[in-house]
Amino acid sequence: MVKLMVVENIIEGAKKVLNLTKESLKNVENKEVGYKGTNYNLPLIYGLLGKKVKDINELRELINSLEIKEEKTLENALDAGVVTLICAEALEALKYATEEQPYKEPYVGFIPDETLRSLGVPLVEGKIPAILVVIGKVGDKEKLKKLINDIRKRNILTLFVGEIIKEMDEAGIEYGFDKLLIPLGETITSAAHAANLAIRAPLIFGGIEPGKTEEIIDYIKNRVPAVVIALGDIDDITLSAGAGCIKAGIPVITNNPVPTIEGALESSDIENIVENALKMKGIEVKVTEFDIPVSVGPMNEGERVRGPDMYVELAGPKSYGCEVVLVKDNVEDGVEIIGKDLDEMEEKGRYPFAIIVEVSGEKLEKDLEGVLERRVHEFLNYIEGVMHLNQRDQIWIRINKNSFNKGLRLKHIGYVIQKLFKEHFPIIEKCKVTIVTDENKVKEILEEARKIYAERDAKARKLRDEDVDVFYGCVMCQSFAPTHVCIITPDRPSLCGSISYLDARAAAKIDPNGPIFEVPKGELIDEKLGIYSGVNDVVKEKSQGAIEEVSLHSALVNPCTSCGCFEAIVFYIPEVDGFGVVHRNFRGETPYGLPFSSLAGQCSGGKQVPGFVGIAIEYMRSPKFLQGDGGWERIVWLPKELKERVKDAIPKDLYDKIATEEDVSNTDELINFLKKKGHPVMKKEETEEIEKTKEEIEKVKKVKEEKEGIDIGEAILDIAKERGIQIIMKNVKIIINLNVKKP
Ligand code: SF4
Repeated sequence: MVKLMVVENIIEGAKKVLNLTKESLKNVENKEVGYKGTNYNLPLIYGLLGKKVKDINELRELINSLEIKEEKTLENALDAGVVTLICAEALEALKYATEEQPYKEPYVGFIPDETLRSLGVPLVEGKIPAILVVIGKVGDKEKLKKLINDIRKRNILTLFVGEIIKEMDEAGIEYGFDKLLIPLGETITSAAHAANLAIRAPLIFGGIEPGKTEEIIDYIKNRVPAVVIALGDIDDITLSAGAGCIKAGIPVITNNPVPTIEGALESSDIENIVENALKMKGIEVKVTEFDIPVSVGPMNEGERVRGPDMYVELAGPKSYGCEVVLVKDNVEDGVEIIGKDLDEMEEKGRYPFAIIVEVSGEKLEKDLEGVLERRVHEFLNYIEGVMHLNQRDQIWIRINKNSFNKGLRLKHIGYVIQKLFKEHFPIIEKCKVTIVTDENKVKEILEEARKIYAERDAKARKLRDEDVDVFYGCVMCQSFAPTHVCIITPDRPSLCGSISYLDARAAAKIDPNGPIFEVPKGELIDEKLGIYSGVNDVVKEKSQGAIEEVSLHSALVNPCTSCGCFEAIVFYIPEVDGFGVVHRNFRGETPYGLPFSSLAGQCSGGKQVPGFVGIAIEYMRSPKFLQGDGGWERIVWLPKELKERVKDAIPKDLYDKIATEEDVSNTDELINFLKKKGHPVMKKEETEEIEKTKEEIEKVKKVKEEKEGIDIGEAILDIAKERGIQIIMKNVKIIINLNVKKP
């Protein structure tokens, strides 16, 4: 009976929204529609229906074509729910098309692709274990506080819709992107921005084409850790939107009595709703309690301590200090403070500061020191009211007044660091943390630490692919990109930029059953391209046979797969037979006329696409950077910001010959620029080899002309037999590259 009522309400709600949307679109002047900052137009509509709606006329036509089936079945109700979501997106699109500022602070509305991409790594690493969409109203200040506390201590990315945002304001609860608490909007249609975020995950990270509805839903169901929490009185429309979410693969939990559909629709008391929501997706989050006066956890990581809120500053540009991790033989657990503690310091004062973390354990090695040391930054930022910037002898720490007033002292900081190290790295058996604020002692430690850093750097910089017997692989992103395998070598850091060779080595040692593992190099098949038999074996196995061979140092010949969280993408520009590289934060267009997100869409999702490859920016500093394709001599375009960032790695004679967005805006201008500057790709045009290639292309054309309707494969067979070929797909153009070595 209850089930039937719910079904009726969902269908009623969907009808109301459909009528409202039709009315809203009536007589509206035609205008372009689409959100800024996305490659997916109106993602919900584009993803679910495969239709790119360009303007209001097309949107109206689409909405007028939607129907709701009257028969009161669960299936029809869920379909009606999808209609509600589509209508919500249409109403939002209308708002964006007709209003100058559709969302005013604190509401954010549409979330761009760039933000979603930046969440890729923390989501796959599990640092952000889930995404919650909280809709409605709590109606009780204490319950609200508990709910937000439950969310924050688990570091869950949460999108809020409805009155709850005002309730948070009234309760003095802070929110924002830095806290992972995002106020989408006041009205229920804002929920479309939560749904369109979820829909973009399979498109961006899974490489699934828009319109492949079943695959998209399957991906969301199995790989996107999102749950809707619907609170307070739920009207027909909200119920109907919830049904749409369920159909799209996002379960709903509510504090209202509803008929249970296990794993899809459940009820819970508000006190346990967060935990129960996570259970619906099989997510368990371990929450560590710390016996100190302030909170500790990744939720505090984005916190800033500005001048007026600062109690004291430790180390930093106007003082000095350092941090160092040392692997030793016999360490006793403990925390020691040498010098003044916070309550002995003057407010607004600046003090020298050093932190030494000594660790011991049977499986620990000296080489792991640098990797462990980088975690000091993260762990210090876990502490509420502590801001830690930079690393090594550049550290800069601020403690805010609030936390000091709550009772935070250096001994607490030492205790947190010790506990987090032991908890995160089970191979650490003993850990001693020494915090020093005594001027002379800090100076002494700093001198010693600088020697240690220099030794470590010299060792790491010297390391090349040929110096090691094993590389490392990472499949962490397979939760989003099922065939993606990262191969991490001394010359090629992970494409997300967060795992260097030494990091991977440490991670594999620390957690031998984790997502990072050893890859024996095997036989070297092609030195220039960086092809190894051992790497191929592993890639084939871990990609479930989807990828047979990868070149570590080529974007053209069997490049490595790309997931979705790469820092930059290398893309082939056939008009000049060169490459551009564009990084994630570049908001403009490449000479192709496409932004980063469109290019990224070409190869993400674990695909191997010759001509496109995701990379870490650090890889551009490697002497092996794209060596299989000619290295820096083939780079013709970079965004200005990226060019500055890797300036030291660009050969001096090439620097001025590489164009940026300030020099060119399309391929014609690029050709002129490169000719004028005498870029090597232009000189290459004149070489004998290219002439030969041209002759061969002519040969293909001639054969084609002579034999109308010829199968192109047949025509190029001779050349293929002779030299081998590679076909590069770029949008709808087919380019035949005849300059590829025959395997
Ligand atoms: S190393 Fe590769 S697979 Fe692992 S998290 Fe980074 S991008 Fe994903």
